[in-house]
Amino acid sequence: MTSDHAHRHYGEDMLSVEEALERILTVFSPLAPEEKPLLEALGQVLAEDAVAAFDIPPLPNSAMDGYAVRHDDIRGASATSPKTLRVIGLVAAGQVPQQAVAPGTAIRIMTGAPIPAGADTVVPFEDTDELQRKAAGRSLQEIAIRLDVGRGASVRPAGEDVARREKVLSKGTILRPQELGVLASLGHSRVMVIRRPVVAVLATGDELEELGQPLGPGKIYDSNTYSVAAAVLRYGGVPHLLGIARDNLEDMEAKVAGGLHADLLITSAGVSKGDYDVVKDVLMRQGHIGFWSVRMRPAKPLAFGLLRGPGGRQVPHLGLPGNPVSAMVAFEAFARPAILKMQGKTRLRKPTIEAVLEDPIHNNDGRRVYARVTVARRNGAYYARTTGAQGSNLLTSMAKAKGLAICPEDTPGIQAGQRVQVWMLDWPEEVEV
Ligand code: AMP
Ligand code: MG
Repeated sequence: MTSDHAHRHYGEDMLSVEEALERILTVFSPLAPEEKPLLEALGQVLAEDAVAAFDIPPLPNSAMDGYAVRHDDIRGASATSPKTLRVIGLVAAGQVPQQAVAPGTAIRIMTGAPIPAGADTVVPFEDTDELQRKAAGRSLQEIAIRLDVGRGASVRPAGEDVARREKVLSKGTILRPQELGVLASLGHSRVMVIRRPVVAVLATGDELEELGQPLGPGKIYDSNTYSVAAAVLRYGGVPHLLGIARDNLEDMEAKVAGGLHADLLITSAGVSKGDYDVVKDVLMRQGHIGFWSVRMRPAKPLAFGLLRGPGGRQVPHLGLPGNPVSAMVAFEAFARPAILKMQGKTRLRKPTIEAVLEDPIHNNDGRRVYARVTVARRNGAYYARTTGAQGSNLLTSMAKAKGLAICPEDTPGIQAGQRVQVWMLDWPEEVEV
């Protein structure tokens, strides 16, 4: 009776995880590019190809400390038959050679210094008699080459790393430290990247207390705001904390209004069947929100839709369940992919491993189970063990977990010793390996 009413009134649907995710993701697309100082762009997605304006290195230069020579002058040199050259100068990194290497001469050269005109080869110090000369107090006006190192030895050609006009990084690349280094080598102090999404985070419930306030009778501290906002940060979003909305129309409406500038509004609680209709009513009045039952455990109740923002802009709203573990699991399953997609990231699948399950996971009601597990690696294999009681209110079980082991909805359970897919909660997301 009640559920029939809810069904008609709120358009409640029973969805698979995939169906829910698909409905959510269609609403999101990559955000607009923005220009950022190079270092601040770490982890963001490059919004345009990076093309080299010059060769890197710009000039042929030395790979070693040694002597720049003409190979013709040292051909056949050996310890028993060294070739002696007249040293006419020195070139250090950052300098431009002022002289050319004429036949019979050499220029002392340091790593990274441009190769002087005339020279085609660098002989490292250790293949000369420099040390012995110094030890004997002899002049360094001359140097004996004791090895034919081969033509072109220790010469790094211009453009060896990057050729002028080459596309060095493609639009869509996630900027890791090495890509920032490449962009720096191209001389870019700023870079165009896809903007990070602003995600407004709102907790709802009369029982919630703000941190810093004494905990009154019957109250609990609002933890969802912090676990959710931290997850927003971790996945590259910019959290905007809206605080706590009470279970009444005015407060709820006012607090939701505070989040309508965001790229996504995430609320927690107030989406399950037993909740006061006021929360649902407010959301329904401000947009089109579906209240779903997703075939998963935890995190079955979920709300998703579009709210009307300023200027008629549509603001996606994701309503997570209130229980702290449910909120986090639903975030991983649905908010994380949306936040990544808005950043132009295309790898939306959670990093997953296959592990041997060490204790059973039960599945009695045909939902996809996300069991909190620790993960250990022994002898090249991963082993997953549940963190104990799996109540969706037990937030410390999430704190113990390294992963979420998945039991498919069509499987009545997974026994100890069987293989299981595990979402790794803390593995780097950036690059698929
Ligand atoms: P609800 O969806 O409103 O029925 O909430 C489900 C459960 O989650 C209740 O036990 C709430 O007290 C709890 N809960 C809701 N919001 C939060 C929050 N922000 N922090 C911690 N627990 C919460
Ligand atoms: Mg509530």
